Parts: sequence; C-alpha cells; structure tokens
Amino acid sequence: MTYRISHWINGQHVQGTSGSTSPVFNPATGEHIADVDLATESEANTMIASARAAADSWKESSLSQRASVLFAFRELLHNRSDDLARIVTREHGKVLSDAAGEIARGLENIEFATAVPQLLKGGHSAQASRGVDVYSSRHPLGVVAGITPFNFPVMVPLWMCGTAIACGNAFILKPSEKDPSASLFLAELWKEAGLPDGIFSVLQGDKSAVDALLDHKDVAAISFVGSTPVAKYIYESGTARGKRVQALGGAKNHMLVLPDADVEMAADAAVSAGYGAAGERCMAVSVVVAVGDIGDALVEAIASRLPHLTTGPGIDPSSEMGPLITEQHRDRVAGYIDAGAREGAEVVVDGRDAKYPDRGFFLGATLLDKVEPAMSVYQDEIFGPVLSVVRRETFDEAIELVNSNPFANGTAIFTRDGGAARKFEQAVEVGMVGINVAIPVPVAYYSFGGWKASLFGDNHMYGPEGVAFFSRGKVVTSRWPDPATSTIDLGFPRTR
Ligand code: NAD
Repeated sequence: MTYRISHWINGQHVQGTSGSTSPVFNPATGEHIADVDLATESEANTMIASARAAADSWKESSLSQRASVLFAFRELLHNRSDDLARIVTREHGKVLSDAAGEIARGLENIEFATAVPQLLKGGHSAQASRGVDVYSSRHPLGVVAGITPFNFPVMVPLWMCGTAIACGNAFILKPSEKDPSASLFLAELWKEAGLPDGIFSVLQGDKSAVDALLDHKDVAAISFVGSTPVAKYIYESGTARGKRVQALGGAKNHMLVLPDADVEMAADAAVSAGYGAAGERCMAVSVVVAVGDIGDALVEAIASRLPHLTTGPGIDPSSEMGPLITEQHRDRVAGYIDAGAREGAEVVVDGRDAKYPDRGFFLGATLLDKVEPAMSVYQDEIFGPVLSVVRRETFDEAIELVNSNPFANGTAIFTRDGGAARKFEQAVEVGMVGINVAIPVPVAYYSFGGWKASLFGDNHMYGPEGVAFFSRGKVVTSRWPDPATSTIDLGFPRTR
C-alpha cells in the first residue's frame, strides 16, 4: 500500500487536485512507498494568498510572542526527533544516527532564532545632530519561500524557516519531491507550537511549483539550496522579478593533507567525510589532495578502512552507510567508476564489489587515485560514495588546484603546522574552511555559504546573514523641535 503526501495550507493537510504526482521510494528496499502531489500554479496561488493574509497579522505579533512559539517548537522537535529521524531514513535512506545528526544541527538554528528580540535590535544615536536622534529597526518582508534539496529534508528547511518566521514573515516550504514527508511533520509541530495558521505552509511539487513561486508578485524572497544549474536559474529568474534571492549550489570539496599530517587521523577524517551519508552531502569531501610524499601512505590508509564499512539499510543500527536516493542516481554514480578508469585514474577500491543488500539503491565505498583535473570524476559533482585522490608536489600547487575549481563551498587542511594552516585559510577562495576539521559546517550563530558557483546572491544562509536576508532595515531621523526655534533653510541638511 502506498501513501499519499499532500500540501499543508492554512494550518491543515490539503490534498492536491492536479492529478499529477511523483513516486517516492524507500531507497533501502527499492519499493515505491508513496506518491507526492505536484502543485499546479493555481494551487500555489491559493497557498500564497493564505500566506499573504496570515503575514499581515503575524508582522504585528510581539517579539516575545514569536520567541515563545519558537521555544515551544524547539521543545516539540527535540522530543519528537526520533520519530522524525525514522521518517527521514525511510524516504532518504541515510542511517538513523545521521538523520538524528541533521535534526540536531537544524535544532540549533531554531535555538538561534529564539533570540529574536536580541537579533532584531536596532541602533540608536541620541543627538546625532542638535536636537536630532537617529535609530534603526528591522522589518519583515511578507511572504517568503524556501526551496530545498533531497539530501537534508529537515536541516535545510530549519536553516530557513525559524529565522524567517522569527523575523515576522510567512514562510512557504517547497521541499524536494524525493523525500517530502518530513516537511509535513514539521508543519504539524509548528501548529502544535502555537504558530498561527498560514505562517508555515508546504507546497509539494517540482519545477512548476517553483515557477509559480518565482512568478508570483507576493513572494518577496526566495531562499534556495540545491544543485548549481537550478540555483543559477532561480537566482536569475527571481532577481529579474525584483525578489530577494539567496541560492546555494553544488560543491566539490577538497581536503588537503600535508606531509606532516597524522596519516591515520587524516584517513579517518577522509573516510568519515567522504562516505558519510553515502557522499550525498554538500559538505562531503570528494577530493583528497595528497601533498608531497604522503600520497602512498594515505591512499593505503584510506583503502584499508573501506572493507570494514558496513553498507546496509539505514534503519539497521549496524549500518554505517545507507543507499543512494534513487536507482537512477546510483547508476549515474556507478558510471563514474568506469569513467574514472577510462580516463586514467586508478580504481583502488571499486564500490561495486562491496557487500551490500541486493534490493535497494546501494553502492559501496569507492576510492580513485591519481585523479587529474581534466577527468570527469574531478570536474563533476558526483554526489555519491566515490572519493578521488589528486596528488600534488607542493603546497602552493595544492592551493592553486582548490582555487581553480569553479565550486567553492567547503575545504579543509590536515597538518600539524600552524603557519601552513593559516596560510591556507587566508589564500583559499572558499566560503567555509576547516583546519583539521573535515566538514566545517558553521555553528548556528555564524552563517553558512560558499563562494563562486556554490552561491548566487549576497547573503549566506542562517545566523546573522539569515536575519539580514529575511528582514529589511529602516532608519528614522527624528527631531522634536521647540516651535519657537523654527526657521526656513533651503540648504542641504547637515549635522550641526
Ligand atoms: P536539485 O537542484 O535537483 O533540487 C533542489 C530543489 O529544486 C528541489 O526542491 C527540486 O524540486 C527543485 N528543482 C529541481 N529541478 C528544478 C528546475 N529545473 N527548476 C526549478 N526547480 C527545480 O538538487 P537535489 O538533487 O535535490 O540536491 C542535491 C544538490 O544540492 C547537490 O548539488 C548538492 O551539492 C546541493 N546542496 C547544496 C547545499 C549547499 O549548502 N550549498 C546543501 C545541500 C545540497
């Protein structure tokens, strides 16, 4: 029996009427388990109208009311996180501990947003000019939308919605059609937390739903996370229609290992960051850059760990790596193993030879050595459990390699040399840098975002830049003069 996944409009489940659906699979078994409704433009318009009406009253809510809803939502989510993790594992495939990890990181974004009275504090300058005071305040945008990828069905929506709602907006989530159930779980918790109907909505759908959000004049801002071609499309279409857009794209994250690094520690980190979530993370390490003479020892250390990884259903606590999201994606990733071999890379470990269940969209951990920038395995974002090793003679060549890549989401260096780490952190043209930290996802009170083809727009996601994105500033210049001092002066006003 398959189940149906529908929209959440004005505080309730609403079945789609388009008749158009997309199948949802359990990637661990390959079974077709559900069908998600794909919204039409008119369904999107109905939702936007209800969000518009709700936003008009939510913007009048007090900061303490918003904070108390956020605190209640945080408690509910914390208490129900095991249930939500199971939903994520069922539709995404990632192992339960990994699903719990994404929920925990998303919760930190909600905790950050509970500080909204502090976050929206403006400045005040008394006596900026004689008898004149100047102060600033931040205001909601109205209806804002979040369009999110399959790989973090909870964390990425939580990067956006808590801050957007705290800033006084109505938020419409358009989740990935590949694992859409988590979005409805979040919607129910928001309602239980006391959020007024219409402030958090879920529009299920594909490109048509996204285009309806892009086209509608009442959607003031779009926060997007997904692949680079779609990020670029949404940024260009949204800004051309006068919307505020932040669009985070794909990645190809390099981890440099210098000759002085602890090889065993670097190998542990490369395996964890390369194969966690089967490589379906925007901050996954996909290229290890072995600098100087460390290459042979490092490749051997990584390869020796791979036969011990347990690949299996995410629901099984003994599994360390789950399946890929769809059969088509699994086949595409497996195709890169052949492409790498054809183009001259050395296939040190072929994931197709690993032990994993016959059913489901599994692929074992793969290690390619002697990869070069011209190869497709280097150029493309593979988004699967395929780790490439590129060897470089010098540290400068390794930095040059990272800086020549069009993607610039995350990067890391493993070394015991503080001076080298500092040089790297200063020279590298990447948005998020780890020093002996392979997945440097910033904590919630900083902001997340890459450079170059990994981000279109000016604001990074969540943290202080998230507040800036989901609110707009106003500055008031105020004078309460004594009428007796009033004169006419046609000169340009200046401070006195
Ligand atoms: P995707 O770009 O295919 O889809 C993302 C969202 O866009 C989904 O909601 C989808 O329905 C919608 N969409 C897809 N095609 C569209 C189109 N042609 N027009 C309009 N909307 C469209 O991405 P995905 O496969 O779900 O997720 C994986 C990608 O996301 C990877 O490239 C990964 O690097 C990236 N990602 C980036 C970050 C980051 O922070 N930079 C984080 C997570 C994932």
